[in-house]
Amino acid sequence: MTDLADQILAVRERIAAAAARANRSADGIELIAVSKTFPVEIIREACRAPHDLFGESKVQELLAKVPELPSHLRWHFIGHLQTNKIRKVVPLVEAIHSIDSLALARDLERIAAEAGRRPDVYVQVNVGEDAAKFGFTRESVRRDLEALLSLERVSVIGLMTIPPLAGQPEDNRRHFAALRELRDQLAIASGTPLPGLSMGMSDDYEVAIEEGATIVRVGSAIFGRRRGTLTVKADD
Ligand SMILES: *Cc1c(COP(=O)(O)O)cnc(C)c1O
Repeated sequence: MTDLADQILAVRERIAAAAARANRSADGIELIAVSKTFPVEIIREACRAPHDLFGESKVQELLAKVPELPSHLRWHFIGHLQTNKIRKVVPLVEAIHSIDSLALARDLERIAAEAGRRPDVYVQVNVGEDAAKFGFTRESVRRDLEALLSLERVSVIGLMTIPPLAGQPEDNRRHFAALRELRDQLAIASGTPLPGLSMGMSDDYEVAIEEGATIVRVGSAIFGRRRGTLTVKADD
């Protein structure tokens, strides 16, 4: 067993414990190993846990890594996606966590249709109203949800958030709870269950699970500290 595989198993145990505290089954909670800035050799090691779900936030890194790694791995795109990069990302990923505007969703709809794909998406909501973050506001997601749900090639499965940088994991509990409450309201208003809640990172994934996260995005708690950007084309 490698250290990295051990780290993944340790995170999974903490996920299970957090789920138990919330009287939830850990089976419903997915772990994305966020491998951004780490090279393929490291990802290959993490696979041995075994683990097959990885997340990247830069298009050029995703493009560089996927062809080098086993084809059974599943990839989620978690970063801000520019329209001119959608075409490259769509064939490689099963989900996009960062749909932050209706215009982006509509471009994705068109390109996914052309590519014969039907990606799962999470609608990114800036519940902390952090000026530095992309995403819908609570008001704009209420306004645009019907249009988002009407898209045929884009499966809206839930909401995602990145809370403001916090001193303590507990500081983010209210943001996670706010995302869940917003989801509950939107589900009732639209008659669509919206089961997915993508929330929680290395420092606060246990709190996020206690508040209902169905998928957590964990990087440094698995791979260690990032040492800056992996040197691939730095145009995004
Ligand atoms: C980098 C990143 C993560 C993982 O962050 P860690 O704190 O290292 O776990 C999660 N989500 C998004 C959107 C990211 O960009």
